[in-house]
Formats: sequence, C-alpha cells, structure tokens
Amino acid sequence: MKADNVSIDTLVIGAGQAGVAMSEHLGRSGVPHLVLERDRIAERWRTSRWDSLVANGPAWHDRFPGMEFEGLHPDAFAPKEQVADYFVAYARKFNAPVRTGVEVTSVERIQGRSGFTVATSNGTFEANRVVVATGPFQRPVIPAIAPKDPHLTQMHSADYRNPAQLPDGAVLVVGAGSSGTQIAEELRRAGRTVYLSVGPHDRPPRAYRNRDFCWWLGVLGEWDKEVAGPGREHVTIAVSGAYGGRTIDFRRLAHEGMTLVGVTKSFDNGIVTFDQDLAENLKRGDDNLMSLLDAADGYVERNGIDLPEDSEARFIPPDPECVTHPLRELDLAKSGVKTIIWATGYAVDYSWLHVDAFDEQGKPKHQRGVSKEPGVYFLGLPWLSRRGSSFIWGVWHDAKHIADHIVTQRKYLDYRDAAQRERLALATNTAHDASHASTLNETGVN
Ligand SMILES: Cc1cc2nc3c(=O)[nH]c(=O)nc-3n(C[C@H](O)[C@H](O)[C@H](O)COP(=O)(O)OP(=O)(O)OC[C@H]3O[C@@H](n4cnc5c(N)ncnc54)[C@H](O)[C@@H]3O)c2cc1C
Repeated sequence: MKADNVSIDTLVIGAGQAGVAMSEHLGRSGVPHLVLERDRIAERWRTSRWDSLVANGPAWHDRFPGMEFEGLHPDAFAPKEQVADYFVAYARKFNAPVRTGVEVTSVERIQGRSGFTVATSNGTFEANRVVVATGPFQRPVIPAIAPKDPHLTQMHSADYRNPAQLPDGAVLVVGAGSSGTQIAEELRRAGRTVYLSVGPHDRPPRAYRNRDFCWWLGVLGEWDKEVAGPGREHVTIAVSGAYGGRTIDFRRLAHEGMTLVGVTKSFDNGIVTFDQDLAENLKRGDDNLMSLLDAADGYVERNGIDLPEDSEARFIPPDPECVTHPLRELDLAKSGVKTIIWATGYAVDYSWLHVDAFDEQGKPKHQRGVSKEPGVYFLGLPWLSRRGSSFIWGVWHDAKHIADHIVTQRKYLDYRDAAQRERLALATNTAHDASHASTLNETGVN
C-alpha cells in the first residue's frame, strides 16, 4: 500500500547492519520509528560481495552483543550468506519495523516548522528525525586512469563473483586491501596468472599467541581509537578469514606464484606503468605487523597472562624476484592480461539528501553521527566515532549513542512550562469529563 504523508518520529534509511542496530536501540527506548530499505535486509552482504567471501573477523567477534551465529564455531569465519541471514534473524527477533523494497529518493527539511519530508518509491513520509544508515561503501570507485580498451574486461571488486566469471587469461588486480588480496589469491588458486598491485597497507597478524587480531585490537584499545594517525586515513587494511584465516603475507603469495607490482600509475597504449614503491609498501606493512606483535607482547608481560610464545609470527620470507627486481611496466597484451579488477574502494552518494549536514567537500559533518543539521544523523561511516565504527560490532555501539541523543532531544521537546502544563491539565480534564458523560449516555444511565 502506498504511503501518503505517513508521520513518524524517526525514519531510518537503510536496513543493513547499521539500520538493524538503530532499530533495536530506538525500539528499546520507545521511540516510534520505521526503517526503509530499498532491497532486502543486509542486501549488500548477499549481492555486492564475491561468492566465497567470509567475514574478516571470527564469529565470536563480528556480531551484535545480543545474539550468536547459529551452528557456527565461535572461532570460525561466517560465510557472507550466513552474515546476511544473521541480520535478518536479528531483525525478526525484536520485530524490527522494516519496510523492504522502499527506496528513499529525497529528504528535505520542512520550512517553518521542524521535521523532514521524505519522498520514497512508495509515497511520502514526514519524520521529525532521519537516520542515514545507507552504508559506508555505496558507490564503487574506479580511478580515472582506467584504460578505455574494448579488448579488456574491467570490473570493480563489488562486481567480482568467482574465477569462472572472467574470460580466460591473466588478471591484473589493482588494490591490495582485504578485497583485492583475497580476490587475487582466489584467482591464483584457480590457476590464473595474477598481477597484484600493492599500495600502502596495514597487515595485522591473523592471530598471535593464541588470540585473533580482533581480540588484540580490542584489549590494546585500537578499535576505540578516535582518529587515524596522521597520513594513515587512507591506508588500507589487508586481512582475511579465507581458508580458515591466515595472516596476509604478500611475499608468501609471490612465492606461491603471484606477481606483485607497485602502485598502478598509468595506462598508455596497452602498457601499464607501476610506481617503484613495492618494497617500501611491503616494509611499511611489515612494520605495522611487528608493531602489533610488540604491543601484544607488552600487554602479556604487563598483565602477567599466560599465552604461549609465537616466534613464527615474526617470520618474514625472503624477498621474491618480483620485489628485488620490480616490474616498471607491463604490456597487457603480451602478458596475456584480459581482465583488470579494480579493488579500489567506494564512495558515498548523498545526492538525495537535501539538508545542511555537509562540509565544503560534501562530506557529512557530524559529531559521533549527530550532524550539524538538527534531526539528521549518520550511522555506519568509517571513523564515525572510532576505528570500529564501520564494522559489525562497532556500529551497534554507535547506534546506541544516536538513540540516546534522540531520546534526550525528545525529552527537551516534551518540556512544558507551568502555564502550558496547566492548560494541558485543563484540556485533559475537560476531555475526560466529556468522555465520562458520553460513556454514561451510551450505557443508558442518564
Ligand atoms: C568486501 C567487504 C567485506 C567486509 N567484511 C566485513 C567483516 O568481515 N566484518 C565487519 O565487521 N565488516 C565488514 N565489512 C564492512 C561492513 O561491515 C560492511 O560494509 C557492511 O555492509 C556495512 O553495513 P551498513 O549497514 O553500514 O551498510 P550496508 O550494508 O551498505 O547497508 C545499507 C543499506 O541501505 C540501503 N539503501 C541505500 N540507499 C538507500 C535509499 N536511498 N533508500 C533505501 N535504502 C537504501 C542499501 O540497500 C543497503 O541495504 C566489509 C565490507 C566489504 C566491502
């Protein structure tokens, strides 16, 4: 049924993990709300990820506090469909008021009074508040250097599904964060010749001294860091739960047959050129790994806890040929490259959000998700309040903060001064008397 100016206190836009968490906290606080989702709950986990993807964190960690993954060992990594199923079951558990198949096409502030008009594919809503939970990774970004060559198949990692989807031949994967590295490894295991373009990255150990890196980031306070270190905002993190969960080790991948190259610089007449920064990028990644191991050792010592030594985690394989003699350029045709996969990240798209909640660069301007436009909230963005904000467990805590803010605002708006309270009491009494009289009439007492 089409909505026609349906009024609601709070509208949540998007029912990924952020929207589901928001709905749970709003429901608990008694805030009337609706969640509008253009597809299905947790759609991106189903249709915007490759087939073999598993969660990057173990099941005990990558979940909401109120529910465990059914039938999954806590140390296992949930396959992506199971992650999506988890959020559907979670929303069902507390009867989240989600309307699926409804796309929000515009949000505008109502002039002269508070609230917003929200236009959707299914009619119009009016809301006092909107929570934008449309995701941190909305629009796949392919850099402008991508060649315009009809003989090449090019796709973003968001459109990659499995090796069989690609034409025969070698593959260049650009970007070595978690997505690019996992896709490159899958392709190499499937027998493809793979070139992986590696930029600056962090690469935590999958596990150290019998604890997953998620645990270490937790106890060391790393998930709670409020800002990325200077110059580190765009450093990608290479981590994977694939094949049971292993530390991403680029040199090992090279020894297994992958060719590593530096940052992809340009394409010209079928020749791709790479920066000569591969060794430096690997060194930075090693330093990041070692610094976490050192911090973990310090924690063990300080707290006197009994965790076994793990010297293997510090092993760095010898530099492979592609690192000692890095490729400067590659002739795509001669090397048989038929496909380029761009694992180069995402942007957000708020073209439908016509409110004063952005800075000069068009980025959401907010404090822990509370935007500068009263009544507009953002949830799920990287570093919204801290490092964990765009991850499953982190978004749940940010949603709690936003729900608290909404509750407080509602309390202010509910405030009435003495005169108003008196008028209200009078009106209530009059209404009560009238209803009492009419009840007496209806029961025939008169
Ligand atoms: C490849 C990959 C792997 C990841 N792995 C992990 C992991 O293992 N662990 C982890 O914690 N995090 C992981 N993340 C990060 C993060 O958890 C996911 O990106 C997650 O999907 C973000 O959830 P969200 O609810 O914020 O956004 P989304 O999942 O993107 O949900 C937003 C929802 O909003 C809807 N929507 C958008 N616009 C509108 C509109 N105008 N009207 C109505 N609805 C709209 C969309 O359909 C979508 O369902 C991963 C991310 C990627 C890209």
